[in-house]
Amino acid sequence: MTVLKAQALSKIYGAKHSGVTYRALDQFDLEVGRGEFVGVMGPSGSGKTTLLNLLSTIDKPTSGRIEVNGTDPGKLNNKQLALFRRRELGFIFQDFNLLETLSIKENIVLPLVLDNTKVDEIERRLAEIADVLGISHILNKRTYEVSGGQQQRAAIARAIIHRPSIVLADELTGNLDSKSAKDAMESLQRLNEERETTILMVTHDPFAASYCRRIVFIKDGKLFSEIRRGTNRPAFFEQILDALSVLGGNFDDVSTSRPE
Ligand code: ADP
Ligand code: MG
Repeated sequence: MTVLKAQALSKIYGAKHSGVTYRALDQFDLEVGRGEFVGVMGPSGSGKTTLLNLLSTIDKPTSGRIEVNGTDPGKLNNKQLALFRRRELGFIFQDFNLLETLSIKENIVLPLVLDNTKVDEIERRLAEIADVLGISHILNKRTYEVSGGQQQRAAIARAIIHRPSIVLADELTGNLDSKSAKDAMESLQRLNEERETTILMVTHDPFAASYCRRIVFIKDGKLFSEIRRGTNRPAFFEQILDALSVLGGNFDDVSTSRPE
């Protein structure tokens, strides 16, 4: 079953006044099925963030359409769109985006509180998810009292506790050391394999990408190629490095070292 469908998505950034325009995304097609774990990779400036902003409905496409679970967010009014975002989507950011004034627990349950979920249901889901992510012992701590890796796992919990149709992540390992990055990716892999959580993740990092089951490569705003993982993650890592070298372009901070 298809969870996300992007058809001929284009985004032209336009300077209305100067007349200078830039086609950041060009007729991009993507389909993500339920339970998939997809990575998006490409050189700097290839359109990854643009794509994610369109899929997360933060920005609107110039042309083309998006469908999440049968709904076209382009047809919703602002109020419906806010609800759509809150119910259908989960977000994981590079800088965690946790609220400092709240405890870890309060951060995680926020999507359920906003949706008026009953207290005992909230407690039940919290306990279950905290257990899966190994953060049960830090729930009452403040964000600044825990490590970056723990903050990111709390952010992952917040992104999935309301059971969204798809989780969208932008460089989620970008601010993590290699051990924490590995923990975060293993957590996501477990959620994907055991709970069929559907994930779409933009990343620079071949190591993080090697946890995905499929990688889509983007270049100059266009779909360039696609690879799928077999059973062997280290072999997939090598395949990713090969694909990136074929892709060319500037990757800034791509590291080819393996933390394990
Ligand atoms: P990536 O995330 O792959 O590095 P982006 O999606 O951020 O790439 O950017 C794709 C291209 O679009 C880049 O050339 C960038 O300079 C341009 N771009 C991104 N955002 C804007 C904007 N708001 N206005 C004009 N150009 C933009
Ligand atoms: Mg980007």
